[in-house]
Amino acid sequence: MPSVEPLLEGFRRFQAEYFGDSAGLFDTLKQGQKPGTLVIGCCDSRVHPATLTGSQPGELFIVRNVANLVPPHESSPTHASVAAALEFAVLSLGVQRIIVFGHACCGGIRALMDDSAPADSALARWLRIAAPAREHVRRDVAASPQERQRACEKAAILVSINNLLSYPWLRERVDDGRVLLDGWYFDMEQGALWGFDPHARGFTPLVCPLEKSR
Ligand SMILES: [Zn+2]
Repeated sequence: MPSVEPLLEGFRRFQAEYFGDSAGLFDTLKQGQKPGTLVIGCCDSRVHPATLTGSQPGELFIVRNVANLVPPHESSPTHASVAAALEFAVLSLGVQRIIVFGHACCGGIRALMDDSAPADSALARWLRIAAPAREHVRRDVAASPQERQRACEKAAILVSINNLLSYPWLRERVDDGRVLLDGWYFDMEQGALWGFDPHARGFTPLVCPLEKSR
């Protein structure tokens, strides 16, 4: 059983940094939040968006789910947590940028590619959102299994961006420039960040890997 002590110790460090004598950030934040960016990230423990971007409390509104997926718009969904977060972030908080933040070595995308989630499990049903990405890779990408997984991880980001555009109120805001949509990909093998470039119709480096001295 993992001990909670490291977590409590972490909270004490956070407390000292943000609530110590010279701290003041939460004096403002306790009045309310005004994040500029919504990140849709994966649950994976290695890819926390705030850690990866060095963001402070109050800067990112974050939705995390398995494989950073956005379901397509439904007219009367029952328990639509992603749609609810989208509405709250954009319509209530006025977020102006949405980043779908995928990553390499994604267990969710691997389960999708391998069909390894138990049939009719919640996981299998959830991952079906990214089925068009898998079909694209199976049909169009001739490569090793690992390269196909990387291709599917990136293609799933584009499926989610496409699904974002199926929300009519969001499509309207994207079309008139009030909201920007980005697709990012954290390559944890190289320690690099890629972004989808619609003009290049592919992912191009936003932050290249470090040059390592040998
Ligand atoms: Zn993942």
